[in-house]
Amino acid sequence: MDPVTATKLGIQAALFVKNHWRKIIVVICGIMFLFIGLFSSVVNITSSVGADDEVVELYKEVAEESGLYWPDLLLYHAVMLYNDFTNVTIEDVRKAAKEIVKYELVVTNLETDFTQIYTYKFDQFYDDLINHWGVPIDEKKEKLTIKELAEYGHQITRPKYKFELNILYYSITDPEIWHNLTSDQVQLYEALSQALPYQFGLVPMDGDGGSTIPGQPPGSRPPDIDVDFAWPAPDLTGISSNFGERVDPINGKKDFHTGVDLNLPGDADIGKDVIASADGVVYQVVKDASGACGYNIRIKHGGDVQTRYCHLSAIFVKPGQEVEQGDVIGSAGKTGRVTGAHLHFEMKYKGVLVDPLPYIISTRP
Ligand SMILES: [Zn+2]
Repeated sequence: MDPVTATKLGIQAALFVKNHWRKIIVVICGIMFLFIGLFSSVVNITSSVGADDEVVELYKEVAEESGLYWPDLLLYHAVMLYNDFTNVTIEDVRKAAKEIVKYELVVTNLETDFTQIYTYKFDQFYDDLINHWGVPIDEKKEKLTIKELAEYGHQITRPKYKFELNILYYSITDPEIWHNLTSDQVQLYEALSQALPYQFGLVPMDGDGGSTIPGQPPGSRPPDIDVDFAWPAPDLTGISSNFGERVDPINGKKDFHTGVDLNLPGDADIGKDVIASADGVVYQVVKDASGACGYNIRIKHGGDVQTRYCHLSAIFVKPGQEVEQGDVIGSAGKTGRVTGAHLHFEMKYKGVLVDPLPYIISTRP
């Protein structure tokens, strides 16, 4: 760079600072507050659950070896132990980790393309590997780590079948755990999680109001997903049921609705297109009208996101097939456990159910 250009640039920079110094100060302060905010939320989790640094190290260590997110593990255990960490050992923490991990075994019949998914908790998987899948296991259940058990799972073979094993990481808001909490535990959880939105990797969207289930509040989305999802049924413009706690329309009991229901005005609209919400690979196809979800499709997308499309009347894709956003994958219907025709659309992020609406609302027809 010659001296004249350098001088010109210097003068321009000086002028910019002179004209915009207020904005520059605002930006610098903003960045400082952001750092303070992030730092204090990390401090919050340890102080609000009453765990000191030494205890927190146990959770970090076990999370590291099992693949869990340590604040999820700490918070889960805080609720189960009513915040009493006085006698916690690393073995206790390992046991807690095994309670919130699940194994997903995807079995595809290569001749019929029919895929079945089995989901196991740690203990069930250990027993089923020996008793149902015939895998010999040398070690005692208590001694095995989460990943070591998965290694045994990879040994399952059968002619004409393909097996795929995934470890799923749940948080306390997984409906199966959530429904077994006492009201004291729910209260404790809500109090603790109020202070910890960052630890869940979930932050409220702009303008989002209340949340009934902290951790996965309706209207929130993980901050680090950059995949844009399309409204999965362009003709079904209504929403008849949102994600989260609700009263079950069939038995009237309190229930956790695992997705969002896009409604058809009536049965006359059965057969309307259901499209792939984003690019991905078809992961499971179920053509069984007797299951709760009826005819349904699961698709794996980038960013560790999965979508599921339930109650279909027809399915046009196969497991393993690559799809692009907007491809017609099936037709809306009313198979499975329903009161009327609708599309139940479900989304998982890192194996945990999340509210799909924030991802698709901008593409609502
Ligand atoms: Zn539904």
